[in-house]
Amino acid sequence: MKAAICYEPNKPLEVVDIDQEGPRVGEARVRVMATGVCHSDWHIANGDWASPLPMVLGHEAAGLVEEVGPSVSNVRPGDHIIFSFRPHCGRCLYCSTGRTILCDGHTAERGVMLDGTFRLRRRGQGIYQMARIGTFSEHVVCPAEMLIPIRKEMPWAQAALVGCCVPTGVGAVTRCAQVETGASVVVIGCGGVGLNVIQGARIAGATAIVACDLLDSKLVYAKEFGATHTVNASQADVVGVARELTAGRSVDYAFDAIGSEKTTLQIVDAVRPGGTAVIVGMAPHATRAPITPFAMAAQEKVLKGTMYGSIRPNVDFPWLVELYLQGRLKIDELVSRRWKLEEINEGFQAMRGGQVARGVVTFA
Ligand SMILES: [Zn+2]
Ligand SMILES: [Zn+2]
Repeated sequence: MKAAICYEPNKPLEVVDIDQEGPRVGEARVRVMATGVCHSDWHIANGDWASPLPMVLGHEAAGLVEEVGPSVSNVRPGDHIIFSFRPHCGRCLYCSTGRTILCDGHTAERGVMLDGTFRLRRRGQGIYQMARIGTFSEHVVCPAEMLIPIRKEMPWAQAALVGCCVPTGVGAVTRCAQVETGASVVVIGCGGVGLNVIQGARIAGATAIVACDLLDSKLVYAKEFGATHTVNASQADVVGVARELTAGRSVDYAFDAIGSEKTTLQIVDAVRPGGTAVIVGMAPHATRAPITPFAMAAQEKVLKGTMYGSIRPNVDFPWLVELYLQGRLKIDELVSRRWKLEEINEGFQAMRGGQVARGVVTFA
């Protein structure tokens, strides 16, 4: 079985044959059909996020359940599934209160199975799986709790993107910020996540959606996904534009789909008094952003973070699939390039160069 392994930061991933053990109790084996290339994979590949290595990367994927271990009841062979990259023990404080993304009910390290052991080996060495899945791989053995069954009409590449960028962006608007009809919204960054924040705002009924990026090519996508105004941040100041468009008041909500010092400060500045700024993009671990406590208090601003769009995968993956099948959610337009697993390093280059809305690896 082939998989793409990160052995060392800042080296190309190695696509090689590895050994895979079958599913144990509570686990399943899935044939991966499509997997997206996301900045979070890149953060590990380039060392921004310290992770145990060697590791099979990839976390945004869909596939076909092939085999289940003992005591698995949520999926069976033949099911079409989308992988959730967060655990879901079903018993902890967070699972019990509907905030499953924050689940802390398991004690094992995140790159190995719940019993603390590896399912992947190469030349005898244990190989970690990103987020316990590691989907840059022809097959994945993982805890069955991370598999969400979906309707079989859903095409594979589009289903894969419902595993990360679609819910992260749409959920940031609908589940985390709970943007209401008629709201004004700023979105900084128009990559795979930012475009989904934009369409989330459209679905929520926002009337002003201001999209901001450094690349004009991405602003064209932003319009297609529902932006009412676009700002090239190399030529204009998004905070100023947000103010002008709202008669000097500034917008109700602002989303940072990048994750950096500058963009975090911009979203706080871009919202009106009483407004909500949401950090969606995942910054390098060491990034800090100096907010102004006086202004936060005096203007009653809210700064929130959201992981995975604060979604509940068991509820929201099927919901997003339904919206797509009804023609109300754009995902076809996100799949701008397809690669083979062997071309994964080219996928990273294209993503970093801003040449794709989202690139997807598909398996023949
Ligand atoms: Zn991702
Ligand atoms: Zn839990």
